[in-house]
Amino acid sequence: MNLLAVLKEIHQEVTPLLGQGNVAKYIPALAKTDPMQFGMAITLNDGQFYGVGSYEKTFSIQSIAKVFSYTLALRAYQNDLYKRVWREPSGTAFNSLIQLEKEAGIPRNPFINAGAIAVCDSLVTHYSPDKTALNEVITFIHECCGERTITFDQAVSESEMEHGFRNIALANLMKSFGNFENDVHSVIETYFQVCSIAMSAKQLSRSMLYLANNGTDPISRKNFISSPQAKRINSLMLTCGHYDASGDFAFRVGLPGKSGVGGGIVAVVPGKMSIAVYSPALNKYGNSLVGTKALELFTTKTGLSIF
Ligand code: GLN
Repeated sequence: MNLLAVLKEIHQEVTPLLGQGNVAKYIPALAKTDPMQFGMAITLNDGQFYGVGSYEKTFSIQSIAKVFSYTLALRAYQNDLYKRVWREPSGTAFNSLIQLEKEAGIPRNPFINAGAIAVCDSLVTHYSPDKTALNEVITFIHECCGERTITFDQAVSESEMEHGFRNIALANLMKSFGNFENDVHSVIETYFQVCSIAMSAKQLSRSMLYLANNGTDPISRKNFISSPQAKRINSLMLTCGHYDASGDFAFRVGLPGKSGVGGGIVAVVPGKMSIAVYSPALNKYGNSLVGTKALELFTTKTGLSIF
């Protein structure tokens, strides 16, 4: 199969859709992003790479970072992590407070904000006092990607911090229920710094290959997580990776995937490859509108879905 030709075809077909949707305006530093951008990248488990459009443009990976943080937390806490963060789709928006109140401060899953903040809190506990959770997440991404240049965008994290009332509320709510171990302000700061890590579609597709190969990076041969745990992360990406549009994403794309409000989506084809797409205008659920369409076209054209 000529994957580059497939990518070029997709690029052509989605171009008329660019401009639909809205960039994430609730984060002022992201509100200025040009919505017309599109890039798509594929890295195969054997290292072959294909890209179209702005696949080398770095952007804020936002909630895609939750996959890396969760991997580290699952590795550190194993099954004990489920006491703090459950594994069920939420059917609510990524930043919703209502369910957290009803369910006594235990977030439904690690990919909604409450769950990712709890995961961040557990990483802060795990690494202190000698190391910082932020550095450990970044170092982990360096290992996954095979590149040491990736870092976070301070302007984006500061902008989120200034407007992060809802996330601070989620953390405080968990604290009130006893599901929070550290200082709310410092955990939220770490959470925003992790969300503001900047990567390109090319780097993201490379970094997620461990999830396409049972927890072991197929290129460096480094083992990051056990095979059953990799299965679980992929399952959660399929069922919870797109918040209350996770069912629709599974229906249309048929792959484990994780989106971020920066406009990125990564998807995993187990045993074969990882695909990342960037297009910053979002649908009403906070997922890249054109990115979702591009992935839908990809699995429809190639038959490379898990179903
Ligand atoms: N940093 C963003 C937030 O906390 C992440 C949300 C997302 O990408 N869905 O709101």
